[in-house]
Amino acid sequence: PLSLGPVAPDYDERRAKWLRDNPRFPAFVAPGRPRVLVVSGSSPRRCSVPDGDHMLLRAFKNKVDYCRVHGFDIFYSTAVLDAELNGFWTKLPLLRSLMVAHPETEFLWWMDSDLMLTDMLAEPPWGRYARHNLVVPGWDDKVYVDRSWLGINAGSFIIRNCRWGGETLLENSYSLHGFWAGIVDKYEEMRRPGAGEPVPLVTHFVGCKPCSGEDSSYDAAVCRRGMERALNFADDQVLSMYGFGHESLNTTAVLRVRNDTGGPLDAELGRLLHPAFRAA
Ligand code: UDP
Ligand code: MN
Repeated sequence: PLSLGPVAPDYDERRAKWLRDNPRFPAFVAPGRPRVLVVSGSSPRRCSVPDGDHMLLRAFKNKVDYCRVHGFDIFYSTAVLDAELNGFWTKLPLLRSLMVAHPETEFLWWMDSDLMLTDMLAEPPWGRYARHNLVVPGWDDKVYVDRSWLGINAGSFIIRNCRWGGETLLENSYSLHGFWAGIVDKYEEMRRPGAGEPVPLVTHFVGCKPCSGEDSSYDAAVCRRGMERALNFADDQVLSMYGFGHESLNTTAVLRVRNDTGGPLDAELGRLLHPAFRAA
Protein backbone atom coordinates (compact mmCIF):
# COMPACT_ATOMS: atom_id res chain seq x y z
CA PRO A 1 0.00 0.00 0.00
CA LEU A 2 1.25 3.44 -0.91
CA SER A 3 1.23 6.34 1.50
CA LEU A 4 1.73 10.06 1.18
CA GLY A 5 3.32 10.32 4.63
CA PRO A 6 2.16 11.06 8.16
CA VAL A 7 -1.32 12.45 8.64
CA ALA A 8 -1.69 15.79 10.44
CA PRO A 9 -5.20 15.69 11.92
CA ASP A 10 -5.00 19.35 12.96
CA TYR A 11 -3.69 20.55 9.60
CA ASP A 12 -6.61 22.90 8.86
CA GLU A 13 -6.34 24.53 12.30
CA ARG A 14 -2.58 24.96 11.96
CA ARG A 15 -2.96 26.52 8.51
CA ALA A 16 -5.66 28.88 9.81
CA LYS A 17 -3.33 29.96 12.62
CA TRP A 18 -0.47 30.53 10.15
CA LEU A 19 -2.78 32.70 8.03
CA ARG A 20 -3.79 34.74 11.10
CA ASP A 21 -0.12 35.17 12.06
CA ASN A 22 0.94 36.15 8.53
CA PRO A 23 -1.58 38.70 7.27
CA ARG A 24 0.85 39.81 4.55
CA PHE A 25 0.22 36.49 2.75
CA PRO A 26 -3.57 36.18 2.59
CA ALA A 27 -5.15 33.07 1.05
CA PHE A 28 -7.63 35.39 -0.71
CA VAL A 29 -5.92 38.18 -2.64
CA ALA A 30 -9.21 40.08 -3.11
CA PRO A 31 -12.81 39.36 -2.07
CA GLY A 32 -13.79 36.10 -3.79
CA ARG A 33 -10.32 35.74 -5.38
CA PRO A 34 -8.39 32.79 -3.97
CA ARG A 35 -4.61 32.66 -4.23
CA VAL A 36 -3.99 29.98 -6.87
CA LEU A 37 -0.84 27.94 -7.53
CA VAL A 38 -0.75 26.15 -10.89
CA VAL A 39 1.30 22.95 -10.68
CA SER A 40 2.68 20.95 -13.58
CA GLY A 41 5.71 18.84 -14.38
CA SER A 42 7.38 16.24 -16.51
CA SER A 43 9.97 13.49 -16.24
CA PRO A 44 13.53 14.38 -15.13
CA ARG A 45 14.76 12.67 -18.31
CA ARG A 46 14.78 14.20 -21.76
CA CYS A 47 12.02 13.10 -24.10
CA SER A 48 12.57 10.08 -26.29
CA VAL A 49 10.79 11.55 -29.32
CA PRO A 50 12.95 14.19 -31.05
CA ASP A 51 10.55 17.15 -30.79
CA GLY A 52 9.12 16.12 -27.41
CA ASP A 53 11.07 18.61 -25.32
CA HIS A 54 10.15 21.39 -27.73
CA MET A 55 6.48 20.50 -27.28
CA LEU A 56 6.88 20.47 -23.51
CA LEU A 57 8.57 23.88 -23.62
CA ARG A 58 5.73 25.34 -25.68
CA ALA A 59 3.09 23.73 -23.47
CA PHE A 60 4.88 25.22 -20.45
CA LYS A 61 5.04 28.65 -22.12
CA ASN A 62 1.28 28.41 -22.64
CA LYS A 63 0.75 27.81 -18.90
CA VAL A 64 3.13 30.65 -17.98
CA ASP A 65 1.21 33.01 -20.31
CA TYR A 66 -2.08 31.97 -18.71
CA CYS A 67 -0.72 32.42 -15.18
CA ARG A 68 0.70 35.87 -15.97
CA VAL A 69 -2.63 37.07 -17.37
CA HIS A 70 -4.47 35.88 -14.24
CA GLY A 71 -1.89 36.64 -11.57
CA PHE A 72 -1.49 32.95 -10.60
CA ASP A 73 1.77 31.43 -9.42
CA ILE A 74 3.22 28.41 -11.18
CA PHE A 75 5.41 25.52 -10.03
CA TYR A 76 6.91 23.10 -12.56
CA SER A 77 8.53 19.95 -11.24
CA THR A 78 11.01 17.68 -12.99
CA ALA A 79 11.83 15.72 -9.84
CA VAL A 80 10.55 12.36 -8.68
CA LEU A 81 9.85 12.99 -5.00
CA ASP A 82 8.93 9.46 -4.03
CA ALA A 83 10.50 6.42 -5.70
CA GLU A 84 7.28 4.44 -5.34
CA LEU A 85 5.08 7.22 -6.66
CA ASN A 86 6.78 7.90 -9.96
CA GLY A 87 5.47 8.62 -13.47
CA PHE A 88 1.98 10.09 -13.37
CA TRP A 89 1.75 9.34 -9.63
CA THR A 90 4.35 12.07 -9.09
CA LYS A 91 1.58 14.65 -8.93
CA LEU A 92 0.37 13.32 -5.56
CA PRO A 93 3.51 13.69 -3.38
CA LEU A 94 4.27 16.93 -5.23
CA LEU A 95 0.88 18.47 -4.44
CA ARG A 96 1.15 17.37 -0.84
CA SER A 97 4.61 18.91 -0.43
CA LEU A 98 3.49 22.17 -2.02
CA MET A 99 0.38 22.39 0.18
CA VAL A 100 2.38 22.10 3.36
CA ALA A 101 5.09 24.50 2.15
CA HIS A 102 2.60 27.12 0.91
CA PRO A 103 -0.10 27.70 3.51
CA GLU A 104 -0.85 31.00 1.73
CA THR A 105 -2.07 29.05 -1.33
CA GLU A 106 -5.82 28.43 -1.21
CA PHE A 107 -6.19 26.32 -4.36
CA LEU A 108 -3.64 24.23 -6.24
CA TRP A 109 -4.53 23.54 -9.87
CA TRP A 110 -2.78 20.52 -11.34
CA MET A 111 -2.25 20.63 -15.11
CA ASP A 112 -0.75 17.69 -17.04
CA SER A 113 2.16 18.57 -19.31
CA ASP A 114 0.11 17.49 -22.34
CA LEU A 115 -2.63 20.00 -21.58
CA MET A 116 -3.01 23.51 -22.95
CA LEU A 117 -5.11 26.44 -21.87
CA THR A 118 -7.11 27.51 -24.91
CA ASP A 119 -9.28 30.26 -23.42
CA MET A 120 -6.64 32.59 -22.06
CA LEU A 121 -9.05 35.05 -20.42
CA ALA A 122 -11.43 32.56 -18.76
CA GLU A 123 -11.08 31.27 -15.20
CA PRO A 124 -12.73 28.55 -13.17
CA PRO A 125 -15.78 29.90 -11.32
CA TRP A 126 -14.09 30.18 -7.93
CA GLY A 127 -17.22 31.45 -6.23
CA ARG A 128 -19.05 28.22 -7.07
CA TYR A 129 -16.33 26.19 -5.37
CA ALA A 130 -16.68 27.86 -1.98
CA ARG A 131 -17.97 24.61 -0.45
CA HIS A 132 -15.78 22.23 -2.42
CA ASN A 133 -12.29 20.97 -1.71
CA LEU A 134 -11.66 18.97 -4.87
CA VAL A 135 -12.92 19.80 -8.35
CA VAL A 136 -12.33 17.12 -10.98
CA PRO A 137 -13.70 17.05 -14.51
CA GLY A 138 -16.22 14.22 -14.67
CA TRP A 139 -19.78 13.00 -14.67
CA ASP A 140 -21.68 11.84 -11.58
CA ASP A 141 -23.59 8.99 -13.26
CA LYS A 142 -20.48 7.54 -14.93
CA VAL A 143 -18.58 7.55 -11.64
CA TYR A 144 -21.23 6.76 -9.04
CA VAL A 145 -23.59 4.59 -11.14
CA ASP A 146 -21.48 2.97 -13.87
CA ARG A 147 -18.40 2.98 -11.60
CA SER A 148 -16.29 3.74 -14.66
CA TRP A 149 -12.78 5.11 -14.21
CA LEU A 150 -13.33 6.93 -17.50
CA GLY A 151 -15.96 9.05 -15.73
CA ILE A 152 -13.29 11.41 -14.45
CA ASN A 153 -10.00 12.75 -15.76
CA ALA A 154 -7.04 13.54 -13.51
CA GLY A 155 -5.19 15.64 -16.11
CA SER A 156 -6.61 18.91 -14.77
CA PHE A 157 -8.06 19.27 -11.30
CA ILE A 158 -8.32 21.85 -8.54
CA ILE A 159 -7.65 21.01 -4.92
CA ARG A 160 -7.99 23.17 -1.83
CA ASN A 161 -5.12 23.40 0.60
CA CYS A 162 -6.85 21.43 3.37
CA ARG A 163 -7.62 17.91 4.68
CA TRP A 164 -10.39 17.38 2.26
CA GLY A 165 -12.35 14.47 2.17
CA GLY A 166 -15.86 14.26 1.00
CA GLU A 167 -16.29 17.65 -0.65
CA THR A 168 -15.67 16.62 -4.26
CA LEU A 169 -17.33 18.25 -7.24
CA LEU A 170 -17.39 16.53 -10.61
CA GLU A 171 -17.26 19.49 -12.99
CA ASN A 172 -18.70 19.33 -16.49
CA SER A 173 -20.30 22.75 -16.91
CA TYR A 174 -17.23 23.91 -18.85
CA SER A 175 -14.07 22.26 -20.24
CA LEU A 176 -11.85 21.95 -17.18
CA HIS A 177 -10.49 19.12 -19.28
CA GLY A 178 -11.47 19.18 -22.96
CA PHE A 179 -10.66 16.07 -24.99
CA TRP A 180 -8.54 17.33 -27.89
CA ALA A 181 -9.87 15.17 -30.71
CA GLY A 182 -13.26 16.85 -30.81
CA ILE A 183 -11.83 20.35 -30.48
CA VAL A 184 -8.71 20.99 -32.53
CA ASP A 185 -10.42 21.25 -35.92
CA LYS A 186 -12.99 23.75 -34.65
CA TYR A 187 -10.81 26.60 -33.38
CA GLU A 188 -11.37 28.85 -36.41
CA GLU A 189 -15.11 28.35 -36.07
CA MET A 190 -15.01 29.18 -32.35
CA ARG A 191 -13.20 32.42 -33.06
CA ARG A 192 -15.98 33.80 -35.26
CA PRO A 193 -18.28 36.22 -33.43
CA GLY A 194 -21.53 34.54 -32.46
CA ALA A 195 -20.11 31.03 -32.98
CA GLY A 196 -22.22 28.31 -31.40
CA GLU A 197 -19.16 26.32 -30.36
CA PRO A 198 -17.81 27.41 -26.93
CA VAL A 199 -14.06 27.98 -26.60
CA PRO A 200 -12.72 25.27 -24.24
CA LEU A 201 -10.78 26.51 -21.23
CA VAL A 202 -8.52 23.46 -21.56
CA THR A 203 -7.53 21.22 -24.46
CA HIS A 204 -5.99 17.99 -23.16
CA PHE A 205 -4.02 15.70 -25.47
CA VAL A 206 -5.05 12.47 -23.81
CA GLY A 207 -3.47 9.45 -25.47
CA CYS A 208 -0.96 11.45 -27.51
CA LYS A 209 2.20 11.04 -25.39
CA PRO A 210 4.04 14.13 -26.74
CA CYS A 211 7.26 13.24 -24.88
CA SER A 212 7.60 9.47 -24.93
CA GLY A 213 5.59 8.54 -28.01
CA GLU A 214 5.04 5.15 -26.35
CA ASP A 215 1.55 3.68 -25.99
CA SER A 216 0.12 6.48 -28.06
CA SER A 217 -3.47 5.68 -28.98
CA TYR A 218 -3.39 8.14 -31.89
CA ASP A 219 -1.37 8.80 -35.00
CA ALA A 220 1.65 10.92 -34.02
CA ALA A 221 1.23 13.34 -36.95
CA VAL A 222 -2.44 13.94 -36.07
CA CYS A 223 -1.45 14.59 -32.46
CA ARG A 224 1.33 17.00 -33.46
CA ARG A 225 -0.93 18.93 -35.80
CA GLY A 226 -3.56 19.24 -33.07
CA MET A 227 -1.00 20.48 -30.55
CA GLU A 228 0.40 22.99 -33.02
CA ARG A 229 -3.11 24.34 -33.61
CA ALA A 230 -3.98 24.49 -29.89
CA LEU A 231 -0.72 26.30 -29.08
CA ASN A 232 -1.16 28.82 -31.90
CA PHE A 233 -4.82 29.37 -31.02
CA ALA A 234 -3.84 30.15 -27.42
CA ASP A 235 -0.81 32.20 -28.44
CA ASP A 236 -2.95 34.35 -30.74
CA GLN A 237 -5.00 35.44 -27.74
CA VAL A 238 -1.80 36.59 -26.04
CA LEU A 239 -0.19 38.09 -29.14
CA SER A 240 -3.33 40.07 -29.97
CA MET A 241 -2.78 42.09 -26.79
CA TYR A 242 0.46 43.25 -28.38
CA GLY A 243 -0.86 43.70 -31.92
CA PHE A 244 0.31 40.43 -33.46
CA GLY A 245 -1.26 37.16 -34.58
CA HIS A 246 -0.50 33.94 -36.42
CA GLU A 247 -0.87 33.84 -40.18
CA SER A 248 -2.85 30.63 -39.66
CA LEU A 249 -3.28 28.19 -36.78
CA ASN A 250 -1.15 25.66 -38.66
CA THR A 251 2.08 27.66 -38.83
CA THR A 252 4.41 29.45 -36.46
CA ALA A 253 4.60 32.56 -38.71
CA VAL A 254 3.31 35.72 -37.03
CA LEU A 255 1.98 38.96 -38.55
CA ARG A 256 1.19 42.41 -37.23
CA VAL A 257 -2.60 42.52 -36.94
CA ARG A 258 -3.10 46.01 -35.56
CA ASN A 259 -2.09 49.28 -37.10
CA ASP A 260 -0.07 50.92 -34.34
CA THR A 261 -0.67 54.54 -35.28
CA GLY A 262 -2.97 55.24 -32.33
CA GLY A 263 -1.84 56.40 -28.92
CA PRO A 264 0.47 53.86 -27.28
CA LEU A 265 -1.67 53.61 -24.17
CA ASP A 266 -5.10 53.59 -25.77
CA ALA A 267 -7.93 52.29 -23.64
CA GLU A 268 -8.41 48.99 -25.44
CA LEU A 269 -4.78 47.94 -25.06
CA GLY A 270 -4.66 48.87 -21.40
CA ARG A 271 -7.82 46.90 -20.70
CA LEU A 272 -6.47 43.73 -22.30
CA LEU A 273 -3.07 43.84 -20.68
CA HIS A 274 -4.60 44.45 -17.27
CA PRO A 275 -7.84 42.45 -17.19
CA ALA A 276 -10.11 43.47 -14.37
CA PHE A 277 -9.89 40.02 -12.74
CA ARG A 278 -6.11 40.06 -12.42
CA ALA A 279 -4.89 39.70 -8.85
CA ALA A 280 -4.21 43.03 -7.15
N1 UDP B 1 4.50 13.49 -15.10
C1 UDP B 1 5.51 13.99 -14.30
N2 UDP B 1 6.66 13.26 -14.16
C2 UDP B 1 6.84 12.07 -14.79
C3 UDP B 1 5.81 11.59 -15.62
C4 UDP B 1 4.64 12.32 -15.75
O1 UDP B 1 5.38 15.06 -13.71
O2 UDP B 1 7.90 11.45 -14.61
C5 UDP B 1 3.26 14.29 -15.25
C6 UDP B 1 3.14 14.99 -16.60
O3 UDP B 1 2.68 16.30 -16.37
C7 UDP B 1 2.10 14.17 -17.33
C8 UDP B 1 1.25 13.66 -16.18
O4 UDP B 1 2.16 13.43 -15.12
O5 UDP B 1 1.35 14.94 -18.24
C9 UDP B 1 0.49 12.41 -16.51
O6 UDP B 1 1.39 11.40 -16.87
P1 UDP B 1 1.05 10.30 -17.93
O7 UDP B 1 2.24 9.43 -18.13
O8 UDP B 1 -0.24 9.68 -17.56
O9 UDP B 1 0.93 11.13 -19.24
P2 UDP B 1 -0.34 11.62 -20.04
O10 UDP B 1 -1.54 10.83 -19.65
O11 UDP B 1 -0.47 13.05 -19.69
O12 UDP B 1 0.10 11.41 -21.44
MN1 MN C 1 -2.41 14.00 -19.86
